[in-house]
Amino acid sequence: MFESGTLGGVTDGKMPLIAKVATSVSKTAAALSRAAGRGDGSVIGGWIGLKIDPDLLTHLASGRAVALVSGTNGKTTTTRLTAAAVGVLGRVATNSFGANMPTGHTSALAKEGHTPFAVLEVDEHYLPEVIDATRPKVVALLNLSRDQLDRAKEVAMMAQLWKTKLAGHPEIKVVANSDDPMVVWAASGSPQTTWFSAGQRWLDDSFVCPESGHPIERAQGDWWCTGCPLRRPRPQWVVEDEGVIDPRGDWHLVKLQLPGRVNIGNAATALAVAAEFGVRPIEALPRLNRVASIAGRYAQVDRDGRNIRLLLAKNPASWLEAFDMADQAPTLLSINARDPDGLDTSWLYDVDFSPLRDRPVLITGDRAYDLAVRLQVNQVPFRHVQSFDEALRSVPPGRLEVIANYTAFQDIRAELDRVN
Ligand SMILES: [Zn+2]
Repeated sequence: MFESGTLGGVTDGKMPLIAKVATSVSKTAAALSRAAGRGDGSVIGGWIGLKIDPDLLTHLASGRAVALVSGTNGKTTTTRLTAAAVGVLGRVATNSFGANMPTGHTSALAKEGHTPFAVLEVDEHYLPEVIDATRPKVVALLNLSRDQLDRAKEVAMMAQLWKTKLAGHPEIKVVANSDDPMVVWAASGSPQTTWFSAGQRWLDDSFVCPESGHPIERAQGDWWCTGCPLRRPRPQWVVEDEGVIDPRGDWHLVKLQLPGRVNIGNAATALAVAAEFGVRPIEALPRLNRVASIAGRYAQVDRDGRNIRLLLAKNPASWLEAFDMADQAPTLLSINARDPDGLDTSWLYDVDFSPLRDRPVLITGDRAYDLAVRLQVNQVPFRHVQSFDEALRSVPPGRLEVIANYTAFQDIRAELDRVN
């Protein structure tokens, strides 16, 4: 696409010179941003790189076998587990927490230099664009549900965008969740699909068939549309007890440091994606076990005799998952409603808090009073505390579970000195 004789036409190896310049500037910008204490620099570095060479992501991705991981929930954890599993075969470039848009992908690939593999977490809105830019070998689709209240109507629209894009790329191996009707529909036009069953806790966004508009019925883990042929495909990878059944029917014990059945589902997804690269579960499992914490999530910190565990819950579906992961122990809930969280807290009424009834519950955060009203309605006793420090002092030594939404989670992490 570059004219010969211009900067872009001068190539050295496979990558045009302009892409090399952009890569180098991108890395320098990221390093400067880190040095200035402005986060990990991955967004600004990628942004500058893409300004210099708009095709930089394509240039950086070429020559690598790429897997993309997308969905509303679990993508950061699943990406981390998948990168660990694919790591059996060689070096893997992967993006860090939060940098799941093209700027972050660009920066991640530039930073790692050449690697044979890349496993990238992709914001669900950007998946079609990133498929075009990176030409992935595998795309993993986890789930689709409302993220913030003001985005609720986008679920079916997002599924449609995925479906259209994937149908145009029959070469991509799709690894998709058979338990989520929106995901199944999105993957239904792809000729090479592997299904995994990782459960679906949140059903509110898939009561209506996206194909025909008829009600979807459910029974014993199965689901089907009452008006058209859309129904749950038979999964090849299935979570059972504390392990995963592979397509050959062999059961593997999954020992993780990450809590909850939700993460066994994430591990099943990682194993299914890694299998597309030729990694066997028996090779991948010891690596999954070594993943302890992801950008502070699930991190355990000991402070004043309390073992504090941090769980991020950013939307209704992930609150339900956090309740599943939390032990029966004193639990601090913290809610903010700043820009990244969504300003409207009425989603609190979509979540059933009754699983917390039998434990001491503390509440804090900018919108603790919204939470107080919700817990009152749900008949969950609670106590309000002004700060994380006060919460710590008001529970006995032992485990303290902390469940917080996005900016509240960041606040608590900052108080704990950016734990990892
Ligand atoms: Zn239907």
